[in-house]
Amino acid sequence: MAPRKLAAGNWKMNGTLAALAEIDRLLADQPAPGCDVLVCPPATLIHALTARASGRIDVGGQDCHANASGAHTGDISAAQLLDAGASHVILGHSERRADHGETDAQVRAKAEAAHKAGLVAVICVGETEAQRDAGQTLNLIASQLAGSIPEGATAANTVIAYEPVWAIGTGRTPTTDQIAEVHALMRDRLSARFADGAEMALLYGGSVKPGNAAEIFSIAHVNGALVGGASLKASDFGPIVAAL
Ligand code: PGA
Repeated sequence: MAPRKLAAGNWKMNGTLAALAEIDRLLADQPAPGCDVLVCPPATLIHALTARASGRIDVGGQDCHANASGAHTGDISAAQLLDAGASHVILGHSERRADHGETDAQVRAKAEAAHKAGLVAVICVGETEAQRDAGQTLNLIASQLAGSIPEGATAANTVIAYEPVWAIGTGRTPTTDQIAEVHALMRDRLSARFADGAEMALLYGGSVKPGNAAEIFSIAHVNGALVGGASLKASDFGPIVAAL
């Protein structure tokens, strides 16, 4: 089976209840998308967004704790995300890795918790500009994949997003050859390690916009996108969904 196609929006720390009007616009623009559509709002909006979307799009969190419950002020467990209506959770985003010092081992533990709760883990990997300039990209991606993805990962419970750190929010995107090279490596590694690794959806993320989405989606082993800034407005996200 071919990997499922997924257009995922990551709202990051943006949006209040008023922003849900964008979901109404998105659903009106894209009444029958040709791919799965996921929106990951701030945790404060998960419940309301789930109600608003009434099953027409999937809703996800942006992080979860590795533990199921307990004394972790400010954190959210995978089961709590599920309870609020989420089906997915983004894990190991480079902003979490940078702002909160998350390591591959922590991302892996969070992914295990997500799987245990029944959530799909959207696990992010990606190199910094300095790592790319030093020729370390492929080794780094291979080691992040090996360290961040738990043994229990399957095509049904795991999505991988390649997000070069230098392309996030910068308006800069890698060349199609650079994306193709990393996605081919990811497909090889996942197929070698997991029985259904050939079917795991692989997303590209980093400055995806309506103007570059179709070209990015034409690259081999790119099964969708993780979109930040351009997911905030239906007028940008809608055309990206339509391009997939
Ligand atoms: P961007 O962010 O689309 O704003 O570059 C992507 C991401 O961080 O997931």
